[in-house]
Amino acid sequence: MLDLAIIGGGPAGLTAGLYSTRGGLKNVTLYEKGFPGGQITSSSEVENYPGITKVVTGMELMQDWPEQSTRFGLKIEMKDVKQVKLNSDKNFTVIFSNGETIDTKSVIVCTGSVPKKAGIKGEDEFFGRGVSTCATCDGFFYKNKEVVVLGGGDTAIEEAIYLSEICKKVYIVHRRDTFRASPVTVERAKHRENIEFVLNATSKEIYGDGSGVLGLLVEQNGEVRDIKVPGIFTFVGRDILNDVLKQDDGSFLCELSESGEVIVDLNMKTSIEGLYAAGDIRIQAPKQVVCASSDGAIAALQAISRALH
Ligand code: FAD
Ligand code: NAP
Repeated sequence: MLDLAIIGGGPAGLTAGLYSTRGGLKNVTLYEKGFPGGQITSSSEVENYPGITKVVTGMELMQDWPEQSTRFGLKIEMKDVKQVKLNSDKNFTVIFSNGETIDTKSVIVCTGSVPKKAGIKGEDEFFGRGVSTCATCDGFFYKNKEVVVLGGGDTAIEEAIYLSEICKKVYIVHRRDTFRASPVTVERAKHRENIEFVLNATSKEIYGDGSGVLGLLVEQNGEVRDIKVPGIFTFVGRDILNDVLKQDDGSFLCELSESGEVIVDLNMKTSIEGLYAAGDIRIQAPKQVVCASSDGAIAALQAISRALH
């Protein structure tokens, strides 16, 4: 039986692992289905993590976190968690995709989110063949070529700026003419000579052939515009990963908001005792590394306090 299972190895999970083991919990394991680091590892530029004065990539920011987190006894296992169940003795069973299970006294869920689909014709067909959700991963394929960035949030505008350093031209295609992205970021993009804003534009179809993407058709002011590009980066928000909380009858283990975020109090406690949620998965998450990390620390301190009483 574990004292604590942590699900997800992003900033929230890794910090929860650090604080829980340094704070005295002996038997703590973090389960990560991919690589530790979380979604920030796909960011090309991070400049708002306190204490890191250089602009770094997300990968650089996270590279030392697993080592620091495991220094006090945290174990990290690369496993995909399928489900968390509450047992009659008030402990939990964590069920993995490979069918294995483990019992644990407490659980911190830190599964974060994944990129949303834009729902455009051709998006699935050409995913990985010209359609991408990661500029740091795929931007280099479009060196000196033209690309589209779809979306008007912080991710879209920041990644468009990054791509404008590599690519000949970047079209930012956005369905409105105002932005969710912070004004300072939008201003920076507006000052780039090789960024063109295509606003009030509805994306209709990504088209191509056997070699990959050839372009994007958008409708703007009642007319169809054909933007001929080999690369389309979609940054249209993120889906909350709450599947591990889904029970066999389709209900969720704890209370969720209408949009699927886990409802927690200021101590990251969910509606079920011993079950905590931290980071982007929780309600009203500011969706920042520093906040996810803070949530992880708070949840870990609560798990320690529960173990002692
Ligand atoms: P995540 O980072 O999403 O980590 C969740 C982890 O859980 C992942 O590693 C995932 O693989 C794992 N996981 C999911 N499901 C399972 C499962 N079933 N079993 C096992 N493991 C699972 N924030 C900033 O502060 N500054 C920035 O400049 C900034 N830039 C960003 C740029 C981009 C492109 C993106 C996408 C985000 C950016 N953010 C930025 C936001 C920041 O990355 C997130 O707020 C933060 O990573 C959330 O941390 P988390 O630990 O809650 O979740
Ligand atoms: P977001 O803020 O939700 O923005 C998504 C964008 O995609 C919006 O402009 C939205 O348009 C558009 N969109 C959504 N669905 C679409 C569709 N089907 N077709 C076309 N466009 C669509 O998502 P995000 O940019 O990924 O940011 C997520 C969170 O992380 C935010 O809280 C953000 O602040 C944070 N973040 C912070 C930083 C930073 O601090 N530097 C960097 C990156 C992300 P509408 O506006 O019209 O809805």
